[in-house]
Amino acid sequence: MSDFEHKDTDDVIDVEATITEEQDDNKHVQDFREVIPSEESGKDTQLESQEKEKEDDGYEKICFICHRPESEAGKMIDLPNNITVCSDCMQRSFDAMTNSNIDYNDMLKNINIPGMQIINMADLENATPKNQKIKKKKKGEKVDIGIDIRDIPAPHQIKGSLDEYVIGQEYAKKAMSVAVYNHYKRVATDTMDDIEIEKSNMLMIGPTGSGKTFLVKTLARLLDVPLAITDATSLTEAGYIGDDIESVVSKLLAAADNDVDKAERGIIFIDEIDKIAKKKNSSQRDVSGESVQQGMLKLLEGSEVEVPVGANSKNAMVPMTTVNTKNILFICGGAFPDLEEIIKERLTNDSSMGFNSDLKDKFDEDKDILSKVTVEDLRSFGMIPEFIGRLPIIFTLKGLDEDMLVKILREPKNAILKQYQKLLALDEVKLEFDEESLREIAKKAIKKDTGARALRAIIEEFMLDIMYEIPKDDNIGEVTITKDYILGTGGPIINMRSQEVHRIEKKAAQ
Ligand code: ADP
Repeated sequence: MSDFEHKDTDDVIDVEATITEEQDDNKHVQDFREVIPSEESGKDTQLESQEKEKEDDGYEKICFICHRPESEAGKMIDLPNNITVCSDCMQRSFDAMTNSNIDYNDMLKNINIPGMQIINMADLENATPKNQKIKKKKKGEKVDIGIDIRDIPAPHQIKGSLDEYVIGQEYAKKAMSVAVYNHYKRVATDTMDDIEIEKSNMLMIGPTGSGKTFLVKTLARLLDVPLAITDATSLTEAGYIGDDIESVVSKLLAAADNDVDKAERGIIFIDEIDKIAKKKNSSQRDVSGESVQQGMLKLLEGSEVEVPVGANSKNAMVPMTTVNTKNILFICGGAFPDLEEIIKERLTNDSSMGFNSDLKDKFDEDKDILSKVTVEDLRSFGMIPEFIGRLPIIFTLKGLDEDMLVKILREPKNAILKQYQKLLALDEVKLEFDEESLREIAKKAIKKDTGARALRAIIEEFMLDIMYEIPKDDNIGEVTITKDYILGTGGPIINMRSQEVHRIEKKAAQ
């Protein structure tokens, strides 16, 4: 209380009368901290503790002004718009108001008075962070990371689960399963016989639509850990237009419901990592390329990062918390266009001792050239050595061919065809696709050159009519999609419940 006791100083004597009056009016303000129930006081301790229990959902409030959590700053005062302020800051604000000669209204208009921090409600309304709460850090010396080494699924189990959703990409699935297994073993044990296990951050290289994001999403879901997906193109060096590099951690914190412990064992996927390659022949400062790589080094390795809670950017209105990235698994992905050329060139140069005339052609035909990538090639592409060094697991994904696309349509647990079949089954209609129609869809998708991403758009286009027409007629029992229907030269085969076969001629080209 002594810090906040009202002291009559010389310069306030001439307004003493006014202040005394104000003091009376604001009695509740001056004794603010007394009003807040302390733990010892209060007769209804039982009632209080019941209330406390009800409130204790594992999260704690943060002071809007000093950003200290409730466990440090004491009980918080709730203000409108989910804003909470600790009693110290509240007291200081009121002291500042009553101790000064400055007109309060004037002060609000001119909030930049040095050394004085006052809550301006009008400002707060605009800048209210969505969530002002943060999950309490667990007490105790050793932080329980919540992972039991016996609970971590073995690599073959992880791969087995991935197989249910992801078609092909065998090497990528295997590499990922082992890396993830080792990573969580490292997290669970912290250290093994003083041999520090290296972090298994990954770099995935593969054409667009080959399943990079899908693999990571599936993995995070299987492991039940929070996942943040960001795009490296939006990142810039701190202070420039764009997202700060640390914003990736703040996204993860949001994905973990502001639970720092949970976020600290999550996964961050940074897509389009090839876009932050060093710019060639650039005389300007490379704020979105090399500088971003530099800025990410610490994060990848493991460091304490101050991140805003409930907002994307740091500002005076947002509370901050510290997240340690030591146990966060970073997975970077990118298409790396032109990397194939770099690899070919290196391979040609490597083997250019002597008879080399037909070598270049040989590499041109090699479809799997990307899998021969080395750290050296990535450096030539524009990634800095320190950055690649922090992504020790490097693997490639294959471009999807027709066979794989057909499988993607049909086989995964949540395959697109299965989804449509389920929808029509609710109308008691059986939906079938003949083999040729699936091949035709795959061919169309390959032409679009966006991998498996094109499949859904193509299917949705011609399923629209089916989904619209079928429910009209209760007698329809089965629909078979044919190649002709996909090509626009015929219609689907419709079987009526009475087993009578009708062939509906569809308008040729729609
Ligand atoms: P990118 O490699 O560009 O990140 P995505 O992972 O976003 O590609 O893939 C787009 C969509 O294609 C996914 O949502 C998924 O449905 C499908 N897909 C891509 N590859 C596969 C695959 N190997 N197995 C199953 N589905 C896949």
